[in-house]
Amino acid sequence: VKLTFTPIRRPGRETVGLIVVLQDVTEEEKLDRQRKEFVANVSHELRTPLTTIKSYLEALDEGGAMEEKELASRFLRVTRQEAERMTRLIHDLLQLSRLDAEKVRFHKQPLLLSEVLEDAADRFSVQCEQKEIDFTLSISDRLPRVYADRDQVDQVLDNLLSNAVKYTQAGGSITLSARKRSDGFITVSVADTGIGIPKKDLERIFDRFYRVDKARSRSMGGTGLGLSIAREMIRGHGGEIGIESQYGEGTTVSFTLPPCEPEVVR
Ligand code: ADP
Repeated sequence: VKLTFTPIRRPGRETVGLIVVLQDVTEEEKLDRQRKEFVANVSHELRTPLTTIKSYLEALDEGGAMEEKELASRFLRVTRQEAERMTRLIHDLLQLSRLDAEKVRFHKQPLLLSEVLEDAADRFSVQCEQKEIDFTLSISDRLPRVYADRDQVDQVLDNLLSNAVKYTQAGGSITLSARKRSDGFITVSVADTGIGIPKKDLERIFDRFYRVDKARSRSMGGTGLGLSIAREMIRGHGGEIGIESQYGEGTTVSFTLPPCEPEVVR
């Protein structure tokens, strides 16, 4: 709290009062701290792959790894993977900054969610099969159309489904479902029987760069921004997104989308 004192004086007399202004600066300071933390995180996230790239290139150039064909191609593969991760990270950062600046155009239109979800299921069923994960799509009958931007809903689904695949072991299962809520909004859920998230991490899981296990997320190719992007996109639709998880048992991420009002359909 910032305090400012201003004395009140009558002409020719001494002080007769005091104006005290109490200013709550917690929010301001919090934002400032978050901004600094974000810049530090971005720098760190970009430096990590660069350091790897540099050391592998040095090994090839000076360490004689170039002479051994197999070793050389392994080093080049890692270098390329790290470069791809940097590209992904920059893509995600740009997307977030455009969402923050409200520069993203929402091309909202009436959407049949069942179609959107079936397409998402198709995109992920091969990955699930390869990893021996059982995939189920469950859509309740007569789901009203939603009013949403197809590309953004696709992106949200991709972020949530790729997390579910990443953090679920072979033999596990993933369920993508949709149902109507009592207020008319549609709830879409991605439930998995994966590694789960400890309770203490749950409330920060949508924060930018927050991960339960940084090393694991990185080795899986994650940027730590997927959930934050999903949250911004859902909020831009007037919906909500939430997470429930039992450590060691599984995770469910659910989001809502507004129904298509009759006047919007016209
Ligand atoms: P990342 O690129 O690291 O996956 P996200 O923002 O998508 O970034 O997710 C943040 C973190 O939340 C992940 O690093 C992981 O620790 C945790 N997480 C997200 N989804 C799941 C899930 N389905 N199961 C377990 N942990 C998850």
